[in-house]
Amino acid sequence: MKRIVVAGAGGFIGGHLTKELIKKGHSVKAVDLKPLNEWYQVSEEAQNLVLDLRLRENCYQAVNGYNEVFNLAADMGGMGFIENNKAACMISVLINSHLLLASRDCGIDRFFYASSACVYNGEKQTDPKNPGLKESDAYPALAEDGYGWEKLFSERMCRHFMEDFGLTTRVARFHNVYGPFGTFDGGREKAPAAISRKVIEASVNGNKEIVIWGDGLQTRSFMYIDDCIKGIISIMYSDIKEPINLGSSEMVSINQLVDIVEDIAGYKLERKYDLGAPKGVRGRNSENTLIRKYLNWEPSIPLKVGMKKTYDWIKEQVINDSRIKKGTSRFNK
Ligand code: NAD
Repeated sequence: MKRIVVAGAGGFIGGHLTKELIKKGHSVKAVDLKPLNEWYQVSEEAQNLVLDLRLRENCYQAVNGYNEVFNLAADMGGMGFIENNKAACMISVLINSHLLLASRDCGIDRFFYASSACVYNGEKQTDPKNPGLKESDAYPALAEDGYGWEKLFSERMCRHFMEDFGLTTRVARFHNVYGPFGTFDGGREKAPAAISRKVIEASVNGNKEIVIWGDGLQTRSFMYIDDCIKGIISIMYSDIKEPINLGSSEMVSINQLVDIVEDIAGYKLERKYDLGAPKGVRGRNSENTLIRKYLNWEPSIPLKVGMKKTYDWIKEQVINDSRIKKGTSRFNK
């Protein structure tokens, strides 16, 4: 049994990771900025702590006496959020920098950092038929403005703390993660959750129209949360010293994603395309040669399978909306 800190445990991925680490028998300190009643999942077995990890002293308080740190804390969201909150996204640099300092000084054995496909050079993502972004495509650097630059800088900080101070750091570049207990409304949601919610709301209200950001031809890949958690844990305890892709290579257009959701819902909508909305790069996919080489594994849960579980969960939340307003956790546990 190890003593493990999960930063950002009140969020989507951090909540799932906390549960998995507890299931594996570890003692977990779960830390997040949000008040406990806004955490997506609360694990009673964890030591749950509300702290602003941008502050250096709070990072020392969080990690002191523990063995390992997973940093999933960041001020982030989907395209709509990151295109309009670049400074807020970049301030997350304080979280990772202060956590690294505290980890070095408190003798942490291993440190995981959640990076993103947004570090990749924009010029390599102009074609919807993206052949897959390999790890070297992050350089020469032309990351997503704001959010992507913070991720790239923090990746490098992890590398330098390993080289200069001997702190073992591991970095994964997540490609869009989706699943239950994630953000599905409020402006920070990503495409799978946003489209699910829009289709559910339309079917509940009898509406016939869906608004899609962009022309729907832009492509992405989406990784189901179970693959993400398995990947995080495998990468953390591997010998992989460089940042590595953690994503699905099942690329779809946004139109195809809408098709999948409509099939699950059994409800077809007329599509209206909002060409002025934030839409991000034209084409993005994960190239998985490196992760296959190191782990003999890659994320492989089919989009249709993961989307069905995600859709069902969001539907339950939308329909049973009163749950959101009462209770100690935003969502049911
Ligand atoms: P999330 O927003 O659900 O979770 C992030 C959590 O960090 C939130 O609960 C938030 O309150 C917390 N946080 C923010 N500022 C904090 C602070 N100052 N102190 C303490 N906690 C703070 O996001 P997520 O989807 O779970 O993402 C987790 C990590 O993975 C983030 O670093 C994100 O950038 C990265 N990532 C996610 C995706 C994705 O598709 N979800 C893709 C690429 C990278």
